[in-house]
Amino acid sequence: MVPNLVMALYRLGDTGPAVAEIRARLAFLGLLACGDDELGGASFETAVFDRAVDAAVRGFQQQRGASVDGIVGPQTWRLLDDARWRLGARVLWYSPSHLLSGDDVVELQQRLLGLGFDAGRADGIFGRDTEEALREFQRNVGILADGTCGPATFKALARLTRTVVGGTPTALREAEAIRRSGPTLAGKVVVLDPGHGGRDRGNCSGDLVEAVLAHDLAARVEGRLTATGVTAYLTRGRLGEDEVPPDEATRAASANSLGADLLISLHMDTAGSAAANGTATYFYGHRALGTRSAMGGRFADLLQRELTARTDLLDCGTHEKTWDLLRRSRMPAVRLELGYLSNPADAARLADPGFRDVVAEAVVVAVQRLYLPPDEDSPTGWLLLPDLVGG
Ligand SMILES: [Zn+2]
Repeated sequence: MVPNLVMALYRLGDTGPAVAEIRARLAFLGLLACGDDELGGASFETAVFDRAVDAAVRGFQQQRGASVDGIVGPQTWRLLDDARWRLGARVLWYSPSHLLSGDDVVELQQRLLGLGFDAGRADGIFGRDTEEALREFQRNVGILADGTCGPATFKALARLTRTVVGGTPTALREAEAIRRSGPTLAGKVVVLDPGHGGRDRGNCSGDLVEAVLAHDLAARVEGRLTATGVTAYLTRGRLGEDEVPPDEATRAASANSLGADLLISLHMDTAGSAAANGTATYFYGHRALGTRSAMGGRFADLLQRELTARTDLLDCGTHEKTWDLLRRSRMPAVRLELGYLSNPADAARLADPGFRDVVAEAVVVAVQRLYLPPDEDSPTGWLLLPDLVGG
Protein backbone atom coordinates (compact mmCIF):
# COMPACT_ATOMS: atom_id res chain seq x y z
CA MET A 1 0.00 0.00 0.00
CA VAL A 2 1.04 3.57 -0.58
CA PRO A 3 -0.79 5.50 2.15
CA ASN A 4 0.15 8.96 0.91
CA LEU A 5 -1.11 8.26 -2.57
CA VAL A 6 -4.63 9.45 -1.79
CA MET A 7 -3.32 12.87 -0.78
CA ALA A 8 -1.56 13.63 -4.06
CA LEU A 9 -2.30 13.93 -7.76
CA TYR A 10 -0.44 11.78 -10.28
CA ARG A 11 -0.32 12.45 -13.97
CA LEU A 12 1.64 12.00 -17.19
CA GLY A 13 5.39 12.28 -16.57
CA ASP A 14 5.33 11.43 -12.84
CA THR A 15 7.56 8.67 -11.46
CA GLY A 16 8.02 6.74 -8.24
CA PRO A 17 6.49 4.05 -6.01
CA ALA A 18 2.97 5.51 -6.18
CA VAL A 19 3.11 5.31 -9.98
CA ALA A 20 4.22 1.67 -9.68
CA GLU A 21 1.14 1.02 -7.52
CA ILE A 22 -1.12 2.72 -10.07
CA ARG A 23 0.42 0.64 -12.86
CA ALA A 24 -0.12 -2.53 -10.85
CA ARG A 25 -3.81 -1.70 -10.26
CA LEU A 26 -4.39 -0.95 -13.95
CA ALA A 27 -2.58 -4.15 -14.96
CA PHE A 28 -4.69 -6.15 -12.51
CA LEU A 29 -7.83 -4.77 -14.19
CA GLY A 30 -6.45 -5.77 -17.60
CA LEU A 31 -6.15 -2.15 -18.71
CA LEU A 32 -2.35 -2.12 -18.95
CA ALA A 33 0.09 -4.76 -20.18
CA CYS A 34 2.12 -5.95 -17.21
CA GLY A 35 5.46 -7.37 -18.47
CA ASP A 36 8.65 -6.33 -16.62
CA ASP A 37 9.64 -4.04 -19.47
CA GLU A 38 6.33 -2.25 -19.04
CA LEU A 39 7.59 -0.66 -15.85
CA GLY A 40 9.61 1.55 -18.14
CA GLY A 41 12.60 -0.80 -17.85
CA ALA A 42 12.76 0.34 -14.28
CA SER A 43 12.49 -0.59 -10.65
CA PHE A 44 9.64 0.15 -8.28
CA GLU A 45 11.25 3.50 -7.45
CA THR A 46 11.40 4.75 -11.02
CA ALA A 47 8.14 3.49 -12.53
CA VAL A 48 6.89 6.00 -15.11
CA PHE A 49 3.42 7.44 -15.64
CA ASP A 50 3.81 7.23 -19.42
CA ARG A 51 1.36 7.58 -22.32
CA ALA A 52 0.15 3.99 -21.92
CA VAL A 53 -0.75 4.70 -18.27
CA ASP A 54 -2.42 7.95 -19.23
CA ALA A 55 -4.58 6.16 -21.83
CA ALA A 56 -5.41 3.36 -19.37
CA VAL A 57 -6.41 5.86 -16.65
CA ARG A 58 -8.64 7.75 -19.09
CA GLY A 59 -10.26 4.52 -20.28
CA PHE A 60 -10.86 3.48 -16.69
CA GLN A 61 -12.36 6.88 -15.77
CA GLN A 62 -14.69 6.74 -18.75
CA GLN A 63 -15.79 3.19 -17.93
CA ARG A 64 -16.52 4.24 -14.33
CA GLY A 65 -18.40 7.45 -15.04
CA ALA A 66 -15.71 9.65 -13.48
CA SER A 67 -14.30 12.86 -14.92
CA VAL A 68 -11.95 11.86 -17.75
CA ASP A 69 -8.75 13.85 -17.11
CA GLY A 70 -6.02 11.18 -16.96
CA ILE A 71 -5.13 12.30 -13.44
CA VAL A 72 -5.09 9.91 -10.49
CA GLY A 73 -6.29 11.89 -7.46
CA PRO A 74 -8.28 10.76 -4.42
CA GLN A 75 -11.48 9.93 -6.35
CA THR A 76 -9.88 7.96 -9.16
CA TRP A 77 -7.71 6.18 -6.64
CA ARG A 78 -10.77 5.13 -4.62
CA LEU A 79 -12.47 3.87 -7.79
CA LEU A 80 -9.32 1.90 -8.72
CA ASP A 81 -9.30 0.42 -5.25
CA ASP A 82 -13.02 -0.47 -5.41
CA ALA A 83 -12.62 -2.14 -8.81
CA ARG A 84 -10.30 -4.87 -7.56
CA TRP A 85 -12.86 -6.61 -5.32
CA ARG A 86 -14.97 -9.57 -6.48
CA LEU A 87 -17.69 -10.95 -4.21
CA GLY A 88 -16.23 -13.73 -2.10
CA ALA A 89 -12.66 -12.40 -2.08
CA ARG A 90 -13.00 -10.80 1.37
CA VAL A 91 -15.40 -10.78 4.30
CA LEU A 92 -17.78 -7.79 4.24
CA TRP A 93 -19.39 -6.13 7.24
CA TYR A 94 -20.80 -2.83 8.42
CA SER A 95 -17.99 -0.74 9.84
CA PRO A 96 -19.53 2.67 10.69
CA SER A 97 -16.23 4.49 11.21
CA HIS A 98 -14.85 3.42 7.84
CA LEU A 99 -17.48 2.08 5.44
CA LEU A 100 -16.25 -0.74 3.23
CA SER A 101 -16.70 -0.06 -0.47
CA GLY A 102 -16.02 -1.94 -3.67
CA ASP A 103 -17.42 -3.81 -6.64
CA ASP A 104 -18.03 -6.81 -4.37
CA VAL A 105 -20.39 -4.65 -2.29
CA VAL A 106 -22.28 -3.64 -5.46
CA GLU A 107 -22.59 -7.31 -6.36
CA LEU A 108 -23.87 -8.18 -2.88
CA GLN A 109 -26.38 -5.31 -2.97
CA GLN A 110 -27.62 -6.27 -6.43
CA ARG A 111 -28.08 -9.88 -5.38
CA LEU A 112 -29.97 -8.88 -2.23
CA LEU A 113 -32.16 -6.48 -4.23
CA GLY A 114 -32.76 -9.15 -6.87
CA LEU A 115 -33.98 -11.47 -4.11
CA GLY A 116 -36.30 -8.79 -2.74
CA PHE A 117 -34.25 -7.59 0.25
CA ASP A 118 -34.09 -3.84 0.68
CA ALA A 119 -30.37 -3.08 0.51
CA GLY A 120 -31.02 0.53 -0.56
CA ARG A 121 -29.26 1.82 -3.65
CA ALA A 122 -26.61 -0.46 -5.18
CA ASP A 123 -23.88 2.12 -4.62
CA GLY A 124 -21.03 -0.17 -3.60
CA ILE A 125 -20.86 1.17 -0.04
CA PHE A 126 -21.62 -1.25 2.82
CA GLY A 127 -23.87 0.95 4.99
CA ARG A 128 -26.61 0.31 7.50
CA ASP A 129 -29.25 -0.50 4.82
CA THR A 130 -27.01 -3.18 3.36
CA GLU A 131 -26.35 -4.68 6.78
CA GLU A 132 -30.05 -4.81 7.63
CA ALA A 133 -30.93 -6.40 4.29
CA LEU A 134 -28.14 -8.92 4.78
CA ARG A 135 -29.40 -9.89 8.26
CA GLU A 136 -32.90 -10.28 6.86
CA PHE A 137 -31.54 -12.49 4.09
CA GLN A 138 -29.55 -14.55 6.60
CA ARG A 139 -32.64 -15.05 8.80
CA ASN A 140 -34.62 -16.13 5.73
CA VAL A 141 -32.14 -18.75 4.61
CA GLY A 142 -31.56 -20.00 8.16
CA ILE A 143 -27.92 -19.06 8.68
CA LEU A 144 -26.48 -17.02 11.55
CA ALA A 145 -27.93 -13.50 11.17
CA ASP A 146 -24.75 -11.63 12.10
CA GLY A 147 -24.84 -9.08 9.27
CA THR A 148 -21.39 -10.23 8.18
CA CYS A 149 -20.98 -11.49 4.64
CA GLY A 150 -18.58 -14.44 4.99
CA PRO A 151 -18.27 -17.98 3.59
CA ALA A 152 -21.72 -19.20 4.79
CA THR A 153 -23.42 -16.21 3.17
CA PHE A 154 -21.42 -16.51 -0.06
CA LYS A 155 -22.58 -20.12 -0.31
CA ALA A 156 -26.23 -19.25 0.38
CA LEU A 157 -26.13 -16.42 -2.16
CA ALA A 158 -24.60 -18.60 -4.85
CA ARG A 159 -27.35 -21.18 -4.23
CA LEU A 160 -30.22 -18.70 -4.33
CA THR A 161 -29.40 -15.84 -6.65
CA ARG A 162 -31.76 -15.66 -9.54
CA THR A 163 -30.66 -13.97 -12.71
CA VAL A 164 -32.57 -10.84 -11.88
CA VAL A 165 -30.78 -7.62 -12.76
CA GLY A 166 -30.83 -5.09 -9.93
CA GLY A 167 -32.10 -1.57 -10.40
CA THR A 168 -35.86 -1.85 -10.81
CA PRO A 169 -36.62 -2.61 -7.14
CA THR A 170 -34.49 0.41 -6.20
CA ALA A 171 -36.32 2.66 -8.62
CA LEU A 172 -39.70 1.54 -7.29
CA ARG A 173 -38.62 2.08 -3.70
CA GLU A 174 -37.25 5.58 -4.38
CA ALA A 175 -40.46 6.55 -6.21
CA GLU A 176 -42.56 5.15 -3.37
CA ALA A 177 -40.59 7.18 -0.79
CA ILE A 178 -41.23 10.34 -2.82
CA ARG A 179 -44.96 9.48 -3.21
CA ARG A 180 -45.36 8.83 0.51
CA SER A 181 -43.73 12.13 1.39
CA GLY A 182 -46.67 13.89 -0.33
CA PRO A 183 -47.18 16.66 -2.88
CA THR A 184 -46.10 19.54 -0.70
CA LEU A 185 -42.83 21.23 0.00
CA ALA A 186 -43.59 21.92 3.65
CA GLY A 187 -41.44 19.83 5.96
CA LYS A 188 -38.98 18.77 3.26
CA VAL A 189 -35.27 19.15 3.95
CA VAL A 190 -33.17 20.29 1.01
CA VAL A 191 -29.40 20.66 1.25
CA LEU A 192 -27.76 23.16 -1.10
CA ASP A 193 -24.10 22.64 -1.81
CA PRO A 194 -22.22 25.65 -3.19
CA GLY A 195 -19.14 24.18 -4.89
CA HIS A 196 -15.56 24.99 -3.84
CA GLY A 197 -15.02 27.89 -1.36
CA GLY A 198 -12.18 29.44 0.66
CA ARG A 199 -8.80 28.52 -0.81
CA ASP A 200 -10.53 26.69 -3.64
CA ARG A 201 -12.00 29.41 -5.86
CA GLY A 202 -13.13 26.97 -8.55
CA ASN A 203 -13.27 28.28 -12.12
CA CYS A 204 -12.55 31.98 -12.62
CA SER A 205 -13.03 34.44 -15.46
CA GLY A 206 -12.30 38.17 -15.00
CA ASP A 207 -14.06 39.21 -11.80
CA LEU A 208 -16.24 36.11 -11.78
CA VAL A 209 -15.28 33.43 -9.25
CA GLU A 210 -17.18 30.14 -9.28
CA ALA A 211 -17.02 29.69 -5.48
CA VAL A 212 -18.56 33.14 -4.91
CA LEU A 213 -21.23 32.78 -7.61
CA ALA A 214 -22.20 29.33 -6.35
CA HIS A 215 -22.65 30.66 -2.82
CA ASP A 216 -24.68 33.62 -4.06
CA LEU A 217 -26.92 31.31 -6.07
CA ALA A 218 -27.34 28.92 -3.12
CA ALA A 219 -28.45 31.84 -0.93
CA ARG A 220 -31.03 32.90 -3.55
CA VAL A 221 -32.41 29.36 -3.76
CA GLU A 222 -32.36 29.03 0.03
CA GLY A 223 -34.51 32.15 0.51
CA ARG A 224 -37.13 30.95 -1.98
CA LEU A 225 -37.22 27.41 -0.63
CA THR A 226 -37.65 28.66 2.93
CA ALA A 227 -40.64 30.73 1.77
CA THR A 228 -42.32 27.52 0.53
CA GLY A 229 -41.96 25.76 3.89
CA VAL A 230 -38.81 23.81 3.03
CA THR A 231 -36.00 23.64 5.55
CA ALA A 232 -32.87 24.47 3.55
CA TYR A 233 -29.27 24.06 4.62
CA LEU A 234 -26.00 25.05 2.96
CA THR A 235 -22.98 22.73 3.16
CA ARG A 236 -20.64 25.66 3.65
CA GLY A 237 -20.67 29.35 4.53
CA ARG A 238 -19.03 32.27 2.77
CA LEU A 239 -15.54 31.04 3.63
CA GLY A 240 -12.54 33.33 4.09
CA GLU A 241 -9.75 33.17 1.51
CA ASP A 242 -7.51 31.07 3.76
CA GLU A 243 -10.17 28.63 4.88
CA VAL A 244 -10.14 25.03 3.68
CA PRO A 245 -13.48 24.02 2.12
CA PRO A 246 -15.12 20.69 3.02
CA ASP A 247 -14.38 17.86 0.57
CA GLU A 248 -17.14 16.07 -1.33
CA ALA A 249 -17.39 13.14 1.09
CA THR A 250 -17.81 15.57 4.02
CA ARG A 251 -20.51 17.49 2.14
CA ALA A 252 -22.39 14.26 1.43
CA ALA A 253 -21.99 13.23 5.09
CA SER A 254 -23.56 16.50 6.29
CA ALA A 255 -26.56 15.98 3.98
CA ASN A 256 -26.87 12.39 5.29
CA SER A 257 -26.76 13.45 8.92
CA LEU A 258 -29.44 16.11 8.29
CA GLY A 259 -31.71 13.39 6.86
CA ALA A 260 -32.12 15.51 3.72
CA ASP A 261 -34.75 14.67 1.09
CA LEU A 262 -32.69 16.17 -1.71
CA LEU A 263 -29.15 17.45 -2.29
CA ILE A 264 -28.38 20.06 -4.95
CA SER A 265 -24.77 20.93 -5.69
CA LEU A 266 -24.14 24.18 -7.57
CA HIS A 267 -21.18 24.73 -9.91
CA MET A 268 -20.16 26.55 -13.08
CA ASP A 269 -18.08 24.85 -15.73
CA THR A 270 -15.07 25.91 -17.80
CA ALA A 271 -13.46 24.59 -20.98
CA GLY A 272 -10.32 25.04 -23.04
CA SER A 273 -12.41 26.45 -25.88
CA ALA A 274 -14.33 29.72 -25.36
CA ALA A 275 -17.04 28.30 -27.63
CA ALA A 276 -18.18 25.64 -25.15
CA ASN A 277 -21.39 26.80 -23.45
CA GLY A 278 -24.59 25.61 -21.84
CA THR A 279 -25.89 23.92 -18.74
CA ALA A 280 -25.74 20.26 -17.68
CA THR A 281 -26.93 18.30 -14.64
CA TYR A 282 -25.26 15.20 -13.23
CA PHE A 283 -26.67 12.45 -10.98
CA TYR A 284 -25.44 9.18 -9.51
CA GLY A 285 -25.15 6.31 -11.92
CA HIS A 286 -22.74 3.79 -13.35
CA ARG A 287 -23.74 2.19 -16.63
CA ALA A 288 -21.23 -0.65 -16.52
CA LEU A 289 -22.44 -1.78 -13.10
CA GLY A 290 -26.09 -1.20 -14.06
CA THR A 291 -26.75 1.06 -11.07
CA ARG A 292 -28.28 4.52 -11.07
CA SER A 293 -30.36 6.78 -8.85
CA ALA A 294 -33.73 6.86 -10.58
CA MET A 295 -34.99 9.85 -8.59
CA GLY A 296 -31.65 11.64 -8.98
CA GLY A 297 -32.09 11.18 -12.75
CA ARG A 298 -35.69 12.36 -12.61
CA PHE A 299 -34.77 15.50 -10.68
CA ALA A 300 -31.86 16.18 -13.03
CA ASP A 301 -34.30 16.04 -15.98
CA LEU A 302 -36.76 18.36 -14.23
CA LEU A 303 -34.01 20.82 -13.41
CA GLN A 304 -32.70 20.89 -16.99
CA ARG A 305 -36.25 21.35 -18.32
CA GLU A 306 -37.01 24.29 -16.04
CA LEU A 307 -33.64 25.96 -16.62
CA THR A 308 -33.73 25.72 -20.38
CA ALA A 309 -37.41 26.81 -20.51
CA ARG A 310 -36.70 29.93 -18.45
CA THR A 311 -33.29 30.97 -19.79
CA ASP A 312 -31.52 30.83 -23.15
CA LEU A 313 -28.76 28.57 -21.82
CA LEU A 314 -27.94 25.70 -24.17
CA ASP A 315 -29.31 22.35 -22.94
CA CYS A 316 -26.29 20.07 -22.45
CA GLY A 317 -28.45 17.32 -20.94
CA THR A 318 -28.25 15.07 -17.89
CA HIS A 319 -25.48 12.56 -17.27
CA GLU A 320 -24.62 9.72 -14.89
CA LYS A 321 -21.49 10.16 -12.74
CA THR A 322 -19.87 8.41 -9.79
CA TRP A 323 -18.49 11.55 -8.14
CA ASP A 324 -18.13 11.20 -4.36
CA LEU A 325 -20.83 13.74 -3.56
CA LEU A 326 -23.41 11.91 -5.70
CA ARG A 327 -22.34 8.46 -4.61
CA ARG A 328 -22.02 9.01 -0.88
CA SER A 329 -25.27 10.90 -0.34
CA ARG A 330 -28.20 8.69 0.70
CA MET A 331 -30.90 10.86 -0.89
CA PRO A 332 -31.49 11.83 -4.55
CA ALA A 333 -28.63 14.21 -5.41
CA VAL A 334 -27.62 16.27 -8.43
CA ARG A 335 -24.76 18.50 -9.43
CA LEU A 336 -25.65 21.42 -11.64
CA GLU A 337 -22.92 22.84 -13.91
CA LEU A 338 -24.61 26.12 -14.75
CA GLY A 339 -22.99 27.54 -17.86
CA TYR A 340 -19.33 28.02 -18.77
CA LEU A 341 -17.34 30.87 -17.22
CA SER A 342 -14.94 30.46 -20.16
CA ASN A 343 -17.75 31.41 -22.58
CA PRO A 344 -18.30 35.20 -22.83
CA ALA A 345 -22.10 34.93 -23.29
CA ASP A 346 -22.58 32.49 -20.38
CA ALA A 347 -20.24 34.59 -18.19
CA ALA A 348 -22.26 37.75 -18.96
CA ARG A 349 -25.46 35.93 -18.00
CA LEU A 350 -24.00 34.66 -14.73
CA ALA A 351 -22.67 38.12 -13.83
CA ASP A 352 -26.26 39.44 -13.82
CA PRO A 353 -28.04 39.07 -10.44
CA GLY A 354 -31.41 39.14 -12.26
CA PHE A 355 -30.36 36.07 -14.23
CA ARG A 356 -29.32 34.31 -11.02
CA ASP A 357 -32.81 35.03 -9.62
CA VAL A 358 -34.40 33.35 -12.65
CA VAL A 359 -32.12 30.34 -12.14
CA ALA A 360 -33.00 30.20 -8.43
CA GLU A 361 -36.68 30.20 -9.36
CA ALA A 362 -36.14 27.37 -11.87
CA VAL A 363 -34.43 25.30 -9.15
CA VAL A 364 -37.31 25.77 -6.71
CA VAL A 365 -39.94 24.91 -9.33
CA ALA A 366 -37.99 21.76 -10.24
CA VAL A 367 -38.01 20.79 -6.54
CA GLN A 368 -41.78 21.26 -6.39
CA ARG A 369 -42.30 19.23 -9.56
CA LEU A 370 -40.36 16.36 -8.04
CA TYR A 371 -43.02 16.05 -5.34
CA LEU A 372 -46.09 16.75 -7.48
CA PRO A 373 -47.94 13.66 -8.77
CA PRO A 374 -47.50 13.61 -12.59
CA ASP A 375 -51.25 14.23 -13.24
CA GLU A 376 -51.19 17.43 -11.19
CA ASP A 377 -48.16 18.76 -13.02
CA SER A 378 -48.55 21.76 -15.32
CA PRO A 379 -46.49 22.43 -18.48
CA THR A 380 -42.82 23.23 -18.08
CA GLY A 381 -41.94 26.89 -17.67
CA TRP A 382 -45.53 27.79 -16.68
CA LEU A 383 -45.50 27.11 -13.00
CA LEU A 384 -44.76 30.33 -11.11
CA LEU A 385 -43.42 30.55 -7.62
CA PRO A 386 -46.48 32.26 -6.01
CA ASP A 387 -48.67 29.32 -7.21
CA LEU A 388 -46.41 27.00 -5.31
CA VAL A 389 -46.31 29.02 -2.14
CA GLY A 390 -50.12 29.20 -2.12
CA GLY A 391 -50.59 25.53 -3.01
ZN1 LIG B 1 -16.99 23.54 -9.78
